[in-house]
Amino acid sequence: MARLLTDLATIARAAGLTVVEIPGWKTRGRPGDFNPRGVLCHHTAGAGDTRRTAEQMALEGRPDLKAPLAQLALSRTGVVYVMAAGRANHAGKAKAFGGIPAGDGNELYVGIEAMNTGFEGWTSAQYSAYVRLVAALCTAYGWPATRVAGHKETSESGKIDPGKMSMPDFRADVARAMSAGTDLRRGATGDKVARVQNALSLTADGSFGPATEAAVRTFQTAKGLPVTGVVDTKTWAALFPPASPTPAPAPVTPNTSEEDELMALQIQHPTEKGKTWPFSRAVWSIWTYAFNAAVDARATRRIVEALAQKGAPLTVDETKQAVKDAVTEVEQEAQA
Ligand SMILES: [Zn+2]
Repeated sequence: MARLLTDLATIARAAGLTVVEIPGWKTRGRPGDFNPRGVLCHHTAGAGDTRRTAEQMALEGRPDLKAPLAQLALSRTGVVYVMAAGRANHAGKAKAFGGIPAGDGNELYVGIEAMNTGFEGWTSAQYSAYVRLVAALCTAYGWPATRVAGHKETSESGKIDPGKMSMPDFRADVARAMSAGTDLRRGATGDKVARVQNALSLTADGSFGPATEAAVRTFQTAKGLPVTGVVDTKTWAALFPPASPTPAPAPVTPNTSEEDELMALQIQHPTEKGKTWPFSRAVWSIWTYAFNAAVDARATRRIVEALAQKGAPLTVDETKQAVKDAVTEVEQEAQA
């Protein structure tokens, strides 16, 4: 079965998110089955953070992987890019997870590529949008938050994304956002009303009356939200922002750790159409290899530096050969 999720943009907008549609997305997809049963979270591992970054994933892909590379992307400021309604190349073979069977991950999951190196941490804007987007998808498709996986949880090839993110904490935040979904207005009663009243320093009697409505209006004014007196998804998110798992990202500085130095090298060679992506990819491949093989980080850095001296951009063949040489070299060193 090859589904087309042509409601992705509507779902994200209804969650109060800023949405950019990459033209053609409603009919874009890879051939093959697509019958998603959950959401798979990724990071891009690159510095790119623009519409162009999303266009590359939607239209161009990578030397080793045809586009689209996911259905959705998410910028560091929380902008949602809708790239494809159909099957995408993001998941590979998946282990069984959260009640979803093992199998073809590209069939079983909707993929979200968050624009993040995986080392920088998550801005509260990006993290909060990630939570809201995933919660909105789960609500729309009738999936519990247990159907939300990180690529690092399903991958059979040692993927490590999304980096610096605890998936159990993320799922808990998604579950909270899902239970918070429905609008609350004058006349509403219950626990959710009491939570809102508590947050607004009112007496928490659980009854949404004129005083609560006035306090909601004041809060909305202060936050620059539409002043409706109704606690909608946006107002709820402002009242109860999900805690970011890491503080605001620090700029990559040299000599803090081997890891940071590798990332700095990668960031110095930003993506550029067709050419430097393979270079960045090569750096990333080497780093991933070293991470998985627990190869000495110093040896890995030498190889990355050697690649850098060859100068970006490399051709695809040069990149493949360089990675191959590098891996052989590291293996020989590791055995020596
Ligand atoms: Zn991934």
